[in-house]
Order: sequence, then structure tokens, then C-alpha cells
Amino acid sequence: MTLQARWSQRLGDLKAQGLQRQLAGLQPLGPTRARIGNQQVHVFSSNDYLGLASHPELLSAWGEGGGAGSSRLIAGTRPAHLQLEAALCEKFGRPALVFNSGYQANLAVLTTLLDETVTVASDRLNHASIIDGLRLSPATVEIVGHGRVSDSVDLHVVEGLYSMDGDVLDLSIYSSGLLIVDEAHSVGCIGPNGRGVAALQNVEPEVLVGTFGKAYGAAGAFVICSQEAKELLVSVGRSFVYTTALADSACRAALVGLRMANADRRERLAENTHRFRSGLDRLGLATMGDAHIVPVVLGEATMSVANSLLNAGFFVPGIRFPTVEKGSERLRFSLSTEHSFEDIDAVLEALARCCCS
Ligand code: PMP
Repeated sequence: MTLQARWSQRLGDLKAQGLQRQLAGLQPLGPTRARIGNQQVHVFSSNDYLGLASHPELLSAWGEGGGAGSSRLIAGTRPAHLQLEAALCEKFGRPALVFNSGYQANLAVLTTLLDETVTVASDRLNHASIIDGLRLSPATVEIVGHGRVSDSVDLHVVEGLYSMDGDVLDLSIYSSGLLIVDEAHSVGCIGPNGRGVAALQNVEPEVLVGTFGKAYGAAGAFVICSQEAKELLVSVGRSFVYTTALADSACRAALVGLRMANADRRERLAENTHRFRSGLDRLGLATMGDAHIVPVVLGEATMSVANSLLNAGFFVPGIRFPTVEKGSERLRFSLSTEHSFEDIDAVLEALARCCCS
């Protein structure tokens, strides 16, 4: 069988298992509205938690500047990169290094800062970018239960706020060893000055990974760490060294996002989260966690409920295996500052019609 024939066979297998992923064409019409086909929908799935991605100030920051041309080591570090790193350093109080994405930041951290003498515990629910980084790293990896501590490791890798379960981890339990925390879903939204779960809990991780593509409304990511760790990442972090750097315009948009992610927006996000979570309670629909990511585990019914919600004008794609375990397929609602109480009440009503009748 040819390679191409095997592609077709694999696609056929995915289709047969109901696991083929489809790209839904979507035209944004504002922070929480979009057009899909000829239907207008409310979006409850984006990580644009603070509603900044389409804010006029961010949009105008994207306006100028071209591509970076190459890696910063080859084509030079631009003022936009340095300004962004200086702003991060001021906010988080330690050196910062900017990456093109959270995926690449996790790859660099885990392949560069862990060596073959290290044994690392990785939480069972960690994101694919952490799993892939650990696969490529020379460290010995132990997978531990969600939120569990291992006594036999040097270091734990966890997320501050879990992206599919919506729970904020208690980081104080890792006090005995080093900690790497992926705060992709928490920076901007949680903690003093939006510095994430570790800052909220007064824990200082050895390394913090954050993204600009979610609450900060832009693109790219960052690592907060010691000066030496930063220098090592710059020298040998393959997903930093061997890729074209973040474009100036994305750096500028990220800088505006950092500035605009303020306490007022966080407060509105918390109010929206409370309204949605209380509504689910009233409907008797179980959820998990305590944050602006709100999973509703429906198992096999997930895709058909997602479809009914879409027909009712609400975009919340179902999350399936392998992103979550088989049997725990779910709708993953994410709240935004820009949802109105009316939007939230309307999606709850639609959910009640789909699930509770
Ligand atoms: N870490 C976590 C926990 C994530 O959920 C994601 C993206 N969903 C990433 C890292 C990757 O971030 P980015 O989208 O910037 O690549």
C-alpha cells in the first residue's frame, strides 16, 4: 500500500471512530459573536477571556511592522522584543523570554532546562505541549495522578489552571521541590495584577510559562525564570533558536494586552463565571473546577449536544478523545468579560432545552 493510501486509510479509521476533527469556518463579529455559515452565533469557546483580542487598541497595535526575518540570533533582537520582555520582567519581577507560542515555550523549557540527571513528575492532565516537551527531554518522567505529589522526583510540572477541567491547582503541596507551572489559562485572569495562580498562592515556581494568545488577546508566549535559565534557553532552546521570532506587530499587540488586562476586566470575568456556574447548579448540571473555564462532561452525548447548541446559536465545540479521556467527552464553556448576563442566561436556557428536557 502506498503512503498516500495509508493516509486515506487512517482518515477513514478516524472517521469511523467519530474522531475526525473538522475546521468550522467562523467570521468574528466582535468579542463574543461570530458568523458560522449564514448563522450568527454567541461564542462560548474562545480563550479570549478578557475580550481583548478585538479591542480597537490591540487592533491598531497590530498595524505596523513586518516579520522578524529569522531567529533573533540571526536577524537580531528588535526593540519590540526587548520592550515586551522588559514589561514582563517588571510585572513578574524576574527575567522573561518571549516565544512564538506556548507550545514552543513548553518545548524549550522542558528540553533545555531538564537534563538526564533529573526525575520529573508530570500531572496526568497536563497539556499536549508539556507531554511533547517531556517526550523530547532527556529527563526521566513519572506521570502522577491529577494534583498529586511524588516524593521520589526532583521537580513537578503542572498547570496553574487546568485547561479542560477548569480547576485551579493548590500549588502549596509542591513546596518540597522545584516547580514548573504552565499558567497559559491563568495569567491575565487570576492572581494579583493577573500574575496567575502561583502569585495568588504566594508560590514562586522555578519557571512560569504564560501565553499572549489567550487572556492577553494577542499571540506568542513567554517564560519567566532566572537569568541563567533564560541565557540557556537563548543558547540551546531549539524551539527558540531554530524558528523565526515573533513579529513586531504581535509583540506590540501583546504589550497592549498586558497593559489592558486590568482588575476591572478580571472582576467582570469573575462575575460572569459566577453567573454561569450558579445557573448550571440550578439546572442540576454537574461541572468541575472553579474558574472561567467551565466543563460540562456529557460523555457520548457531547457531540450531539454541541450540534444542538450550534443550531440554537451557541458555538461550544465538543471536546473528545484524545484531548480528554474516553467517556469524559465534554462541552468546555469558556467565559469572557464581554459576555453579557443576557448571553449567559440564553446559553443556559439552550443547554437546559438540550440536556434537561
Ligand atoms: N499550555 C496550555 C495549558 C494550553 O492550554 C495551551 C494552548 N491551548 C498551550 C500551553 C499552548 O499555548 P499556545 O496556544 O500559545 O501555543
